[in-house]
Amino acid sequence: MTTLRISIFILLALSISVSGAMDTVLLMDDSGSPLGNLPLLKRGEEQLIPSALLTRKANWQREREANEEIITAPGSVTILRRGNPFAKVNDSHIQLRVAPEEWDGSFWLPLSGLQDMFPGGLTYNAETGALQVKMGAPEAEEVVPEPTPEKRTKIGSTEAWKLGTVIIDPGHGGKDPGASGLYDLVEKNVTLDIAKRVARELREAGIDVKLTRDTDRFMPLKDRSEFANANRGDLFVSIHANSFRDASIGGFECYFLSPARTERAVEVALKENAVVELESSDHEYQELTEANHILLTMATAQYMKDSETWAGLTLDEAKEKAGLSVRGLDQAGFYVLMGASMPAILIECGFLTNPADARVLSAENGRQRLSESIATAVLKMKRNMEATASR
Ligand SMILES: [Zn+2]
Repeated sequence: MTTLRISIFILLALSISVSGAMDTVLLMDDSGSPLGNLPLLKRGEEQLIPSALLTRKANWQREREANEEIITAPGSVTILRRGNPFAKVNDSHIQLRVAPEEWDGSFWLPLSGLQDMFPGGLTYNAETGALQVKMGAPEAEEVVPEPTPEKRTKIGSTEAWKLGTVIIDPGHGGKDPGASGLYDLVEKNVTLDIAKRVARELREAGIDVKLTRDTDRFMPLKDRSEFANANRGDLFVSIHANSFRDASIGGFECYFLSPARTERAVEVALKENAVVELESSDHEYQELTEANHILLTMATAQYMKDSETWAGLTLDEAKEKAGLSVRGLDQAGFYVLMGASMPAILIECGFLTNPADARVLSAENGRQRLSESIATAVLKMKRNMEATASR
């Protein structure tokens, strides 16, 4: 396990640099101010960018209808069809080098066709390698909530700090099934079962536990961290399972909140954040711009170190006991972790599409062993935090 020690300064430097190595493309407004980076997905010679992020950053309007996306930008109304290389731009048709793909709630559009797709709205600046966009009409200003983290040690208090409530968040639920895979495994059911098992283990160890949901119901991401804060949680763990088009990809992963460092981490975050599309109130979310990443990182900086430690403990336990291969520790911007004023991690309990992982996750004793490893890491974290607080 590599320890990721990243200071805010490095994060700032990372977000400002226009790096080809990161497989992103810089987005600028028409005055040349950076709006942030868009992730790139490689498709042969072509590279794709997510329409959801592009339109959000540029303030363009994006509507979804069956297998179509209708994007209204300054100077164009563009209709894109999934799997269809022809796009309708205003009153004419253009042909793209590759068809738009759909990936978890967003179309992914070929970079080479962007200027033709959005004439008057977007230009490629060959000098800077950046995409320059005309901004759409601004929406009403959003209010950024002040983070109100609780101090772990109260000044003047003689009583030793004790870990209070652990919030367990089974990912997805209701109309949002999450990923699916072999043995008819559906993420929302797997996560709920594991969450309940972890809760049982922790309660037996005398720890107060609250679940964000204990039935198969839909719950917006924002409500989950709000629930954690309202219940004065001291730790927040969101439980998920992954899927991938390539069945050979498998393994347990643990994430903590931070700007994504790798393209793969961006992919996982985009996937888990995609549920926002199902939520009626998606305008309440802060955009996942790099600037917001930095603000959020600073807001949760005091929890970041703890989150990283906890993620490492969780990974170690899973490696030893869960019978799953371990892919690693990573950091990425997950909406569900952002609002939590406490150390927060997100666990991907393996890939439902991978035969070895699916075998473990479909078996009751497999899920039980995994749950025990997650609970053990919480207990170790409790000792760790209580020791630090009393120093
Ligand atoms: Zn998930």
